[in-house]
Amino acid sequence: MSEQRERAVSPAVRDHVDNYVGGEWTTPASETSQPVVDPATGDELATVEHSTVETVDDAVQTANEAFEEWRQTPVVERVQYLFDLKTELENRIDEIATALSREHGKTIAEARGEIERGIENVEVACGMPNMMREGSGNVEDVASGMDEHAVRQPLGVFTAITPFNFPAMIPLWFLPYAVASGNTFILKPSEKVPLSSQLIFEAVDAVDFPDGVVNLVNGGAETVNTLLEHDDIAGVSFVGSSPVAKHVYETAAQHGKRVQAQGGAKNYAVVTENAAVDEAVPNIIGSVYGNAGQRCLANDVVVGVGDVYDNLREQLIDAAENLTVGAGVDEETEVGPLITDDSRERVLDLIENALEEGAELVLDGRDFEHPELDGNFLGPTLLEGVTTDMEIAQEEIFGPVLCLAEAEDLDEAIEMVNSTKYGNASSIYTESGSEARQYKYEVDAGNIGINVGVCAPMGFFHFGGRKASFFGDLHAQGEDAVNFYTEKTIQIERWYS
Ligand code: NAD
Repeated sequence: MSEQRERAVSPAVRDHVDNYVGGEWTTPASETSQPVVDPATGDELATVEHSTVETVDDAVQTANEAFEEWRQTPVVERVQYLFDLKTELENRIDEIATALSREHGKTIAEARGEIERGIENVEVACGMPNMMREGSGNVEDVASGMDEHAVRQPLGVFTAITPFNFPAMIPLWFLPYAVASGNTFILKPSEKVPLSSQLIFEAVDAVDFPDGVVNLVNGGAETVNTLLEHDDIAGVSFVGSSPVAKHVYETAAQHGKRVQAQGGAKNYAVVTENAAVDEAVPNIIGSVYGNAGQRCLANDVVVGVGDVYDNLREQLIDAAENLTVGAGVDEETEVGPLITDDSRERVLDLIENALEEGAELVLDGRDFEHPELDGNFLGPTLLEGVTTDMEIAQEEIFGPVLCLAEAEDLDEAIEMVNSTKYGNASSIYTESGSEARQYKYEVDAGNIGINVGVCAPMGFFHFGGRKASFFGDLHAQGEDAVNFYTEKTIQIERWYS
């Protein structure tokens, strides 16, 4: 554990943002910086410096130098560090959740939930000895007197570039698998929410990984581009908006790297006449308004099929208008603020355009004002009469807005679900097995919920979308996180001794 940081532990919210390179906390050389702002109050929590090209290069060299020895460390020893990391993270859940809630705005319960989902990935990666074994095979006599087998091998330095909306969980989709499989690793978190990573890396520091195995660099687009173009980066994992995902995918591929890039989303939920509406409603409310709608799995368009519509509409309005809006750290809060004022303005524009295109406001949260806080708040908003030709039915909202639409039958509803350019997730609410089967078969999305509004796969299943939600054929999470190792085949002639 580095001495410098021991003195800085607690209170939960750090007032400075450092890099962590080669087992040391360092202030990055920087020409640009920006404030980290509490979106509920507008208070400046810290300043984040954007790492320069030289700083990034130094981190990559350090990680690259650590690779050979780390790779030769037996996999059963490598995962011991992850067992320790799990404990360190668990001991810090409250502290990380507080920092996360302050910098992001989500509720403490939501923050705790995402940290737990992150830790789940640390647990799954502890099974890396088995994952490395799974890819191996041994076939005798593939040719006359020749045997062949396959092994999984790590590749070098991996980097993960992550978005603002899950500051703890998404870095942990990658870090544990990358290092357990023998690679070294550099995290570049979102510059809007760098404080959660400071605390996660204090846990990393406490575990005492060999220097240079796990590293953190802070910064923005320039920092990312330096990583994407660096000769000594073997692979890139990205999660964020689709235009940046496409840029990352193309740039990293042009530079000969393994790359997997997860992009944005536009998710629909469908409620059929065979749904248990009373149970569907709280589930839909959680999906749409949880995390203030800033979730890549949020179902922000809800399609009522046939006669279910009126009952569904009434219950959704009733539930949405009773939600409490406020700061995430306030225990009463159910809907926190949006990450920036620009995000709030973007959502307001989407609502305005929807109204111009013919949608109707049933619940208007546009003028919500918190009695004490000057944050980026929007009240729960509900629009109806939304049709697939409207911008709001095609673009990601990323705010607390529910769009109600109608379909005559399930076929029409599925056509609506598949009308967007995205394919991240979609949910159906029904108690009919045949409807559920048709849905999971025909909907073109990577994650399907059946009576589940936030269908986030467990750590031991892979996470990926389709269409503009996903670039590449590698996956995040679990045994399918094949981006971190490559299979090598070896042929052996019988005279081998
Ligand atoms: P973003 O694309 O703005 O930023 C993501 C990362 O890319 C950040 O680390 C940022 O520093 C970097 N970046 C931003 N612009 C860049 C540029 N021009 N060049 C290089 N790097 C750049 O995304 P965000 O606003 O932080 O996150 C929200 C988005 O992420 C939403 O679209 C959401 O759907 C998506 N998301 C997707 C998933 C998924 O699994 N598919 C999960 C979570 C979030």
